[in-house]
Amino acid sequence: MTEKIDCVVIGAGVVGLAVARHMALSGRETILLEAETLIGSHTSSRNSEVVHAGIYYPKGSLKARFCVAGKTLLYRFCEERGISFNNCGKFIVATNEAQVATLQGIVGKARDNGVNDLQFLTREEALAREPNLHCVAALNSPSTGVVDSHGFMLGLQGDFEAAGGMLAFGSPIAHAQCGADGITVHTGGADAMALHADVVVNSAGLFAPDLARKFAGLPPETVPPTFYCKGNYYSLAGKSPFSRLIYPVPEAAGLGVHLTIDLGGQARFGPDVEWVDSIDYEVDPRRADSFYAAIRNYWPALPDGALMPGYSGIRPKLQGPSEPAGDFVVQGPREHGVKGLVNLYGIESPGLTSALAIAEYVDQLLVEEAT
Ligand SMILES: Cc1cc2nc3c(=O)[nH]c(=O)nc-3n(C[C@H](O)[C@H](O)[C@H](O)COP(=O)(O)OP(=O)(O)OC[C@H]3O[C@@H](n4cnc5c(N)ncnc54)[C@H](O)[C@@H]3O)c2cc1C
Repeated sequence: MTEKIDCVVIGAGVVGLAVARHMALSGRETILLEAETLIGSHTSSRNSEVVHAGIYYPKGSLKARFCVAGKTLLYRFCEERGISFNNCGKFIVATNEAQVATLQGIVGKARDNGVNDLQFLTREEALAREPNLHCVAALNSPSTGVVDSHGFMLGLQGDFEAAGGMLAFGSPIAHAQCGADGITVHTGGADAMALHADVVVNSAGLFAPDLARKFAGLPPETVPPTFYCKGNYYSLAGKSPFSRLIYPVPEAAGLGVHLTIDLGGQARFGPDVEWVDSIDYEVDPRRADSFYAAIRNYWPALPDGALMPGYSGIRPKLQGPSEPAGDFVVQGPREHGVKGLVNLYGIESPGLTSALAIAEYVDQLLVEEAT
């Protein structure tokens, strides 16, 4: 038998949870379907937990818009609910003269995005605050921070359920049919079921494009290709030598091997960039050499043997290794022609920071469609 419901959200990562919460709070009867048995089983619990300021992304991009808006929403959400965060700030460091121009470019990009609080620091000014640092200049980003990402997801889940939303674990969506009067989704798993919904939001993270290809009635040419770009982390044995986050200048596919300090005070380095063909979260201990080399550019005193393999996450990329980095892709009916369907593709960093703003935007697309 097919049950009817207003809204189905697929995937209980941070973005799916934020979208489902928004849908339930706006009065839609909503079910959130998750393939695994826990919230945040994939990318949402395998990241740097950084609240990004919104400084790197091209002007007008969804990444820039959602990150800047999402940062404010995220800090407020955590403050109101007592969820742990630390607005500790970060330095982006130039370790040679050639990189100083890159820092100046970042200041310009940040201003374009409405982030006007970056401070340019000379070597002496940076070292006065972080004596263990090697750099020729740095940028201070005071609005950057770290957040308890699991606490954030639990807060979203709490709001969602308090607003009447239902969360079903062990419910992998196998396929769907899109029609003029709504979308029917079919789950696999132990308790296979079919649900007919006016609105379906595909927030399946790494799996979103593969899943979209199983939606009959969705033009296949609208589904982008998928590339997996793994980021490995190493933990530091001992106390952090820095009191804030330290980032090198960004690389083509990531932000460079940076230092973050979690809310328990544990310092970790990563993520690096490893293009992979399948999802495997094992960290290869042989990658340590490249970590030592990258970190010693800004922390030459890193002792031998201080790094331990940590964890990894996988970036859901829509562009391959030789292509320039792309934007988030949020496709509503205007883009693919299917009533009531929103597909979220390529929600890599800064997706954690952006989650609440993405949720607002998805709602806006659906309201626009209905009016
Ligand atoms: C290495 C790394 C570092 C990052 N660092 C940061 C950072 O510091 N700050 C920041 O803002 N962002 C960061 N990000 C980005 C951020 O982690 C992601 O954008 C965010 O977690 C994506 O959330 P999501 O809900 O879209 O995806 P996910 O967390 O992957 O959730 C998708 C969910 O969908 C479920 N699912 C999949 N298929 C199905 C199906 N068929 N049926 C039902 N359920 C399904 C999965 O089980 C999963 O739970 C980082 C990402 C990576 C990889």
